[in-house]
Amino acid sequence: MRNWISLFIILYSAVAFGEDKTTLYDFRYWSAPDHTRIVIDKEEDTLFNIQTSDNYVIISFDDAEVLSETFSNIFFKDNRIEKVRIKREKSTIKLIVQVGKKFNVKHFTLNPNSKYKHHRLVVDIIDSETEITKKIIESDEPPSLRNQKIILIDAGHGGEDPGAVGRNKSLEKNVNLAIAKKLVGLINKNKDFNAVLSRSGDYYVPLTKRLTIAQEQNVSMFISIHADSVESISAKGASVYTLSEKGNNSKLARQLEESQNVVDQFGGVETVIDNDQFLKNILTDYSRKDKEKQSFQLAQEIISELGKVGPIHKKLPQKANFVVLKSPSIPSVLVETAFISNPTQEKRLTNKNQQQKIAQSIYKGIVSFYQKLD
Ligand SMILES: [Zn+2]
Repeated sequence: MRNWISLFIILYSAVAFGEDKTTLYDFRYWSAPDHTRIVIDKEEDTLFNIQTSDNYVIISFDDAEVLSETFSNIFFKDNRIEKVRIKREKSTIKLIVQVGKKFNVKHFTLNPNSKYKHHRLVVDIIDSETEITKKIIESDEPPSLRNQKIILIDAGHGGEDPGAVGRNKSLEKNVNLAIAKKLVGLINKNKDFNAVLSRSGDYYVPLTKRLTIAQEQNVSMFISIHADSVESISAKGASVYTLSEKGNNSKLARQLEESQNVVDQFGGVETVIDNDQFLKNILTDYSRKDKEKQSFQLAQEIISELGKVGPIHKKLPQKANFVVLKSPSIPSVLVETAFISNPTQEKRLTNKNQQQKIAQSIYKGIVSFYQKLD
């Protein structure tokens, strides 16, 4: 009860003195296996300060007011945040976050873009190294068998980056993850393979991190799952992309490249690719030409299977310069499963049976790719 009274006082004072205050519009949080991301929609010139002490992170805003409808979003719990409180001290609003694990804090701000109209403050509460090591040791996942091929299934977007949005408000990130999980389930029934996900929930993984996972897990194949989107509502069907350093000349492919490669502006901060030795090595990888051919063959197999269960947008594999396909020496493809911008296809993408059919087609494509390789 006392909480509600103080809440009322905070709200009342915000309304009473709201005129020259800076506004905090919304709060969101995303729980990932190794960090929790808190996002605050704010004004461009909002003054903030982030402090840590013991197991608390305190985010303070000077001369701030919080919109009443956003209040309920502030109080949350996840696997590392134990409690969130809000406190007003004179004209300052303090968000006090109690963390249950050893942690580090990073923050950055993002400018508005086509998906977010406000300026954003992003605060990442990241498990400290010791916590992460502990997690790996405690992991009860069975080690992969010696001759198993490890396949990385990458569900595009996630967390603060929704991907494309359908006419009926379905989010691409959710559709991608649903299909990716079904695909992993199908692959793991086959003793020859072991599939892993680049993300298993609704949180953001930077593009280069997705590649690093591929390298660390020593994967044999990389498949990124996406859904297409264009202005017109009639475009339909699946396409499969492979990497081309030169990129694609067609207008649609160029737009796609841009939207895929800039997602990190929505999700967070991307490591500068030129500074990354791992990614530099890709450019001097001798076996690349061979793998380009394999990626193309894999793409062909997947398209032919997808064509049996639904419409195809491009009958031939398309080439584009996607960061996420730059895995050095493994066949890598990006599957645009259908157009989420087409209401009929959006319905298909959100239907569990249809998701299963799409996953099954991709799985069959993988199997026939390996069969023809032997
Ligand atoms: Zn996408």
